[in-house]
Amino acid sequence: MAKDKLTALAPGATIGILGGGQLGRMLALDAARLGFKIHIYCPDTGPAFDVSAAHTQAAYEDEDALAAFAQKVDLVTYEFENVPARTAEVIEKHRPLFPDSRALATTQDRLAEKTFLQDLGVPIAGFAEVNSVVDLEAAVRTLGRPSVLKTRRFGYDGKGQIMLREDVSTDTAFAAIGSQPAVLEAFVPFEREVSVVAARGRKGEIAAFDVTENRHENHILRTSTVPADLSAEASKEALATAEKIVAALDYVGVIGVEMFVVREGGRERILVNELAPRVHNSGHWTQDGAETSQFEQHIRAIAGWPLGSPRRLGLAEMTNLLGEEVLKWQELAAEPGTRIHLYGKGQARPGRKMGHVNRIKPE
Ligand code: AMP
Repeated sequence: MAKDKLTALAPGATIGILGGGQLGRMLALDAARLGFKIHIYCPDTGPAFDVSAAHTQAAYEDEDALAAFAQKVDLVTYEFENVPARTAEVIEKHRPLFPDSRALATTQDRLAEKTFLQDLGVPIAGFAEVNSVVDLEAAVRTLGRPSVLKTRRFGYDGKGQIMLREDVSTDTAFAAIGSQPAVLEAFVPFEREVSVVAARGRKGEIAAFDVTENRHENHILRTSTVPADLSAEASKEALATAEKIVAALDYVGVIGVEMFVVREGGRERILVNELAPRVHNSGHWTQDGAETSQFEQHIRAIAGWPLGSPRRLGLAEMTNLLGEEVLKWQELAAEPGTRIHLYGKGQARPGRKMGHVNRIKPE
């Protein structure tokens, strides 16, 4: 059935989520506040299991388990973009999936994503497809050094990528990413990294949160601050770019659009880096710093509810708690005005996202 003809999901219904990590956990918490039940489908147990009404622990390739899961829920979403495309298609045979399998297939493969963005006329870094060392040599001749070699699939937090500096041979670089299908990207001398977290509803309505400025350490997001230090013109360009992308994908749900800000002829310009077809770490500030959190907004969008107001409530800063930083919870709990969000993960391995804090100040 056409998605704008589907009736809105009433409270009491069950939403299925593929993936059981912290994003699923925070979606489940907000979904519960709107009266929904959550059923998690994930090959491993994870932070979302503790706060959900039901869970299925099975492989994404187990089509019988997927069908049985789909029968028990009213619609399905995902919190993890590396769900196999085939899994999404199996789900769609039984239940509506938002964002749909096309959005997933486009955004889980860097080459498909870049080709889509280029065709749409969205500014991105120069890139070339790389399937072999010979391809890589040709791509380096065109794009130069430094440049960045990234696997087409399964990259996150800087995994599956290597910078081609002068001293790295093409053989070494291609081997370092596991000799897999990849893309070479021109190096972007960016001034800052920003993102737009936006939602699109079933009828095509769009609500975007303010542009967020993101600081990474060792490729992992450290802080997000809002508003981003950006000219009004560049901010408008960032928001318009995100709107163009979700409209072209006929997207339903929340998306994270990661962008580089570069300076060209004294002007700030936006280049899109990548799309995350889900709620996004750079949108966590909205839990305490916006009228509607990104998690509630995603549930509203997929359930066919009116979108909530994305209005910002103050100056916001989100700081990820990585690894053993989570052990400071007592100190953080004693800080007036600091909002703590912990994911209930057992082992505080170095770099692992264990929680985050939001600090919102009056403007
Ligand atoms: P990604 O996995 O594509 O989000 O890349 C992770 C991080 O690597 C980005 O947030 C940037 O800090 C850096 N990076 C990725 N691509 C480029 C590029 N083409 N030029 C410069 N830095 C990059």
